[in-house]
Amino acid sequence: MKYDVIIAGAGYAGAVSARCLAEAGKQVLVLEKRDHIGGNAYDAYDDNGVRRHVYGPHLFHTNNGNVVDFLSRFTDWYPYEHRVLGYIEGKTVPIPFNLTSIEKLFDPETADHLKTELIKAYGMERKVPILELRKNEDPAINQLAEYIFEHVFKYYTMKQWGYGAEEIDPAVTARVPVHVSYDDRYFQDAYQMMPKDGYTAMFKCMLDHDGITVVTGCDVMEHIRIDTEQHQVLYDGEAFTGEFIYTGLVDQLLEYRYGDLPYRSLEFDVQEETKGFQPAATVNYPTPAEIHPFTRISDYGMMMESCPEKTASAVEYPYAYSRNGEKGTVPYYPVFTDASKEQYARYAELLKDIPNVHLLGRLAEYRYYNMDSITERALEVCGSLIG
Ligand SMILES: Cc1cc2nc3c(=O)[nH]c(=O)nc-3n(C[C@H](O)[C@H](O)[C@H](O)COP(=O)(O)OP(=O)(O)OC[C@H]3O[C@@H](n4cnc5c(N)ncnc54)[C@H](O)[C@@H]3O)c2cc1C
Repeated sequence: MKYDVIIAGAGYAGAVSARCLAEAGKQVLVLEKRDHIGGNAYDAYDDNGVRRHVYGPHLFHTNNGNVVDFLSRFTDWYPYEHRVLGYIEGKTVPIPFNLTSIEKLFDPETADHLKTELIKAYGMERKVPILELRKNEDPAINQLAEYIFEHVFKYYTMKQWGYGAEEIDPAVTARVPVHVSYDDRYFQDAYQMMPKDGYTAMFKCMLDHDGITVVTGCDVMEHIRIDTEQHQVLYDGEAFTGEFIYTGLVDQLLEYRYGDLPYRSLEFDVQEETKGFQPAATVNYPTPAEIHPFTRISDYGMMMESCPEKTASAVEYPYAYSRNGEKGTVPYYPVFTDASKEQYARYAELLKDIPNVHLLGRLAEYRYYNMDSITERALEVCGSLIG
C-alpha cells in the first residue's frame, strides 16, 4: 500500500482533508462511491445553462474568515444573499418570520401592537427560537407565538422530519428562529456568496494535487473492513496502518450491527420554468401535507450571478431514508431523537480503540454541519493529524 491516508468520500469533509494532508506531504487516496466529487454540494449545468444543485439548494454563508481564506484558494465568488418567502394564509411573507411578516399578515393596528410588544420584550435584531417564544407569558406575544407555531413550524416540521416540532431536538426548530428585525435575508452572516463557477469546479480544483488520487464509483466497503476484535483497519484483507478518514454512514461501516440509524431523505422534482415564475429563490410551504405534500420550491436560476430566461425549479418532497426502498434512498439529515443519539454513541464506542480511524462529516459524526462548519472541522482534524 503506497498511500499514507485513505479517505472515504469526496464531499467537503473528504476533499478538504485530502488537500490539507496532501499539502503536508502525504499520499492520499480518496474513494468516492458516487460517480462524481463534491458530495451533497455537487452541482451541474443543464441544457439551458442553469447550474442545478443536484442534492438540493446550497447557499454559502459564514462568519469564519479562515474558512473563506482556505476555500478562496480554489474558487472566486460572487455575492449572493438568499431570501425565502413562506406561503401563509394565501400570502407570501419573509422567512425567518420577522417584523415585515407581521405587517403582511395582520391589520395595521394589530401589527403595530405585536411589533411594539416583541421589540419591548426582546429588543431589535434578536433571534428567538419558536419554542422559547411560546414560553413568553405576555398574552399578545403568546398569541403571536401560537400563530407562528401553527403557520410556520407545525406542519413544516411534520413534513420535513416526520415528527412534531415538540418531539424532535429543539436545535432543529431553533435553526430558523423568529427574527425581531426588518432584515429579510435568510442569513445574517458576514460572508454570503457563491462559488463563481459552482461547487463542483471548486472541488475539482481542491482535489487537483500531485499527492491526491481520486477514484469515483468506488464504495470503500468493497476494500475496507473494520476489525473491532483486533482493533485494526483491513484493506483488501491486509492491515492498513495509515490514517483512515471515513465520511460515510457509520452504521454501514460497522455492518449495521446495531441496526440502521434513522435519516431523513428528500426527492426533488426538477422542472424547466420561465425566469420569475415565483417571487423568491425559495418559497416554503408550511401548510399541511394534504394541501401541499412538499416543503419548498427553489429556483436555481435565481441563485446564479444572473438568472437565465429559462430557469429550473426543484420541488422538495421529504421521505424517511430507506437504503433498499424505491424513494428516499439518499441519507440527507440525521434524525435527532434520544434513541438515535444513543444508537450512534454505541457505534462510535466500537471505534474508540482504533486510533487510525477518524469519523468526519455529517454522516460519520451523525450531526448537522453547514458547509463552513465542516470545512473548519476538517481543517482542525487534519491539523491535529499533521501535528
Ligand atoms: C438539502 C440540503 C441542503 C443544504 N444546504 C446547505 C446550505 O445552504 N448551506 C450550507 O452551508 N450547508 C448546506 N447543507 C449542508 C451540506 O450539504 C453539508 O455541510 C456538507 O455536505 C457536508 O459535507 P460532508 O463531506 O460531511 O458530507 P457529504 O457532502 O454527504 O459527503 C460525503 C460523501 O461520502 C460519500 N460516501 C459515503 N459513503 C461512502 C462509502 N462507503 N464509500 C465511498 N464514499 C462514500 C458520499 O457519496 C458523499 O459524496 C445542506 C444539506 C442538505 C442535505
